Amino acid sequence: MTPTSTALKQIQTFLATEKKMLLNGQWCAGQKGEILPAINPATEDIIGRFYAGGTGDVQVAIDAAHNSFHDKRWRNKTPAEKARILWRLADLIEEHGDRLALLETLDGGKPYQAARQGEIPMAAESFRYYAGWCTKISGRTSDISIPGDFHCYSRREPVGVVGLITPWNGPLVMAAWKLAPALAAGCSVILKPSEVTSLSTLYLAELIVEAGIPDGVVNIVPGPGATVGATLVNSPLVHKVSFTGSTQTGKSLVQAAMGNLKKLTLELGGKSPVIVYKDADLAKAIPGIAGGIFGNAGQVCVAGSRLFAAPEIYDDLLSGLIDYAQNITVGDGVNPETTMGPLISEAHRARVAGYVAKGLAQGATLATGGTALDRKGYFMTPTILTDVTPGNCVAAEEIFGPVLSVMKIDHMDHVIAAANATDFGLAGSVWTRDISTAHKTVADIRAGLMWINCHGIPDMAIPFGGYNQSGWGREGGPEGIEYYTELKSVVTAL
Ligand code: NAD
Repeated sequence: MTPTSTALKQIQTFLATEKKMLLNGQWCAGQKGEILPAINPATEDIIGRFYAGGTGDVQVAIDAAHNSFHDKRWRNKTPAEKARILWRLADLIEEHGDRLALLETLDGGKPYQAARQGEIPMAAESFRYYAGWCTKISGRTSDISIPGDFHCYSRREPVGVVGLITPWNGPLVMAAWKLAPALAAGCSVILKPSEVTSLSTLYLAELIVEAGIPDGVVNIVPGPGATVGATLVNSPLVHKVSFTGSTQTGKSLVQAAMGNLKKLTLELGGKSPVIVYKDADLAKAIPGIAGGIFGNAGQVCVAGSRLFAAPEIYDDLLSGLIDYAQNITVGDGVNPETTMGPLISEAHRARVAGYVAKGLAQGATLATGGTALDRKGYFMTPTILTDVTPGNCVAAEEIFGPVLSVMKIDHMDHVIAAANATDFGLAGSVWTRDISTAHKTVADIRAGLMWINCHGIPDMAIPFGGYNQSGWGREGGPEGIEYYTELKSVVTAL
């Protein structure tokens, strides 16, 4: 699948001017007029430029969100009206799907087909899923036991002004996962995309205006985390921040929010185990496991980065995975043959390569990959490390690259303890034909999302989030909307 020539021309037009931020319904250059480049990680070329916000711009955005929340221009629309506008936005995302997918490829390095068939429909479906919830948010009545005549009920109300902070690895989808439930709940928002991949969010901003969301309800301020993000977290006018990013940054948000006790949802890093029993269907497990670690060049929070295989099938599984990895076509995502794109930046590639070197120094063996491609772009070959012991850094830390750490296990009785020996707890997968083994294993793994005989399948209906240091709270599903509401109890003396 290749981008159409029409989409290429339309994106050239979009990128021809510096993209502005969206403050109170106006396109603004920002108070300081600072401009950041957008770099294509496959070519190292600057493909566009956008205005980066500063503290003053965030304040304007917060005031706009505050005013729009308090005059109720959005939250007082009927649930059906809100739903219709979110549906319209989903339709617009689909209509503009070729252009949005191309932006994800040019700005973030994703293979075009993966963006066009995966990320774009998922972003549109996020708005449809939560459009459906607009008409279903409700409280309940309670009979109370205090003597007298009382009528008691609860209300779910929007949590208020919300700061949404997204990472670079799935910019459009992450924005949609946060915006859709926040808007369905009736909140007003300030969205800060990663300064590394801001373009698709700025394109989405145009669709948000076109869909008819009132001015000031969605404000979009790209820029550095240390200024734009931190101002959001520190502001007393922001009632909640929903953050997706690294565990390290998540911890700094917790510290910053201590002063004002604002609510936080934190979707953080992972080190997901992949557990393969001897009766697994290897013909399905090999591509499934490879897709789970090499998809998006391993820059996925739920990447299945630690492999535990039963001794009986270890050799067959490993040789199948090595063969699969060596047949992955690494290249520019606009080429239809490409199955794995580049890493996001030179700094990130150096970090991933550093992990591989350190892992080898700590006793791991290189089974395949581990090299940078000798060409422009931040490419790295799919990498498999074997003989990885629990103390090795490649077993313990999130690499966020195409590196699979294979851990030897003597007996599957020890696999649960080995898989749970991590600070993270985001996701994992189990591969077996035995239904009892599968369900017993998933019950014992401490993680927020487990897959059986598949890995990395997302859906808006499924709550998503982590145990341990993988985060606080959930996105997706009915639970996802509750994190954008407050619950009020009302007692009436009759
Ligand atoms: P990051 O933590 O560096 O940045 C994430 C966002 O936070 C960016 O927008 C950044 O500008 C902002 N930020 C940075 N410092 C900040 C501060 N002090 N205050 C407020 N905001 C600040 O993460 P990244 O490198 O962009 O993304 C990769 C990480 O994201 C990985 O660890 C990955 O596992 C994680 N991630 C988690 C999920 C999930 O759902 N659990 C999904 C995708 C990515």
